Amino acid sequence: MSQLNIDKIRADFPILHQEINGKPLVYFDNAATTQKPKAVIDALSGYYEGYNANIHRGIHHLAEKATSAFEETRKSIQRFLNAPSHEEIIFTYGTTDGINLVANTYGRSFLQEDDEIIISTMEHHSNIVPWQMLCQEKGCVLKVIPITEHGEIIMEEYVKLLSEKTKIVSVVYASNALGTVNAIKEIIEEAHKVGAVTLVDGAQATSHIKIDVQELDADFFCFSAHKLYGPTGMGAMYGKRELLDKMPPWRGGGEMIKEVTFEHTSFNELPYKFEAGTPNIADVIALNTALDYVNDLGLENIAAYEQELLEYATEKLQAIDGLKIIGQAAEKVSVISFVIDGIHPQDIGVLLDQQGIAIRTGHHCTQPLMQRFGIVGTSRASFAVYNTKEEIDKLAEGLLKVKRFLM
Ligand code: PLP
Repeated sequence: MSQLNIDKIRADFPILHQEINGKPLVYFDNAATTQKPKAVIDALSGYYEGYNANIHRGIHHLAEKATSAFEETRKSIQRFLNAPSHEEIIFTYGTTDGINLVANTYGRSFLQEDDEIIISTMEHHSNIVPWQMLCQEKGCVLKVIPITEHGEIIMEEYVKLLSEKTKIVSVVYASNALGTVNAIKEIIEEAHKVGAVTLVDGAQATSHIKIDVQELDADFFCFSAHKLYGPTGMGAMYGKRELLDKMPPWRGGGEMIKEVTFEHTSFNELPYKFEAGTPNIADVIALNTALDYVNDLGLENIAAYEQELLEYATEKLQAIDGLKIIGQAAEKVSVISFVIDGIHPQDIGVLLDQQGIAIRTGHHCTQPLMQRFGIVGTSRASFAVYNTKEEIDKLAEGLLKVKRFLM
């Protein structure tokens, strides 16, 4: 029995209380983005209505208030990830931006021809393409860890790929397409044995798993606010100070400098060295409210409830004739990807939408993973803390209707 009052939680999310196509909305597209509680929406408008001002250089009241709220979020993220210091938290546009930052700074500065970068088969395009671009530029080699039919990394194969040539290992903590939770601590440990630097794509992990970057010994950890009940287009990256210190800046402009002349520019200290230009102030501030929201509910409580939903849904969906779950790892976050014999995922999505049920269909930005399974895509239902078993019943009934309609 959950520790959480789900009715009360649902009341915190205004968007959930509407009808789509004449049916109450069932929102199961949480791996794409979670909905936002009213407190987060209020934090956004509260900033614009009450203390909109540019940060850091202003001395007037509004600028100081905005700066202090902005910097508070950095400290909250430090606590949320258990990072050693808040100077090691860099604001980004999200996970994609964080990975690109590392590829473009650490990667371009410290990798050379024939160096190797390791990723896994289940990576999101965000954790493939920046490394491919780097490989193209520097003549490095991208190696890919294979996975089992259940959607789990084959550790022995991973260890075989590692050598003194390996310079970066960049792996997803929890897969958006399969739900698999990877043994990320072990993956990092093995990478460190050959002296490689590690990046964890935490996009799907932060809303389901308690993160401790020190315990993981991750060198870089990236996440997006919008998958954590916060706003879109912002996120953060943790990096170990010794690495961030030796990395050159990426984007140039205001804020990231100490002194500029036409002949020479000296760069600001951490974390500002990596934060050129006016940042996404309102969204950064609202992320703090989202973190408070998650912390108040308790990540352990959220995870336990979502596991209940996952188990319930797995049982319900598996009972549907012709339905196959793609991704059956022993450890999963609350994501179920599935295919149904003879029905295109797109058709499933459209027909469920007519019943007010929002799921995601397609390749989920993991085309190579879909190729691994020999499929064009899947239908994916992903659950958040405000979802219920009654909604899962509706999904199961909806899928039966889809089958009756199309077959
Ligand atoms: N990595 C994973 C595993 C994801 O699920 C996503 C988003 O779906 C991303 C990276 C990219 O996140 P964003 O689009 O917020 O940068």
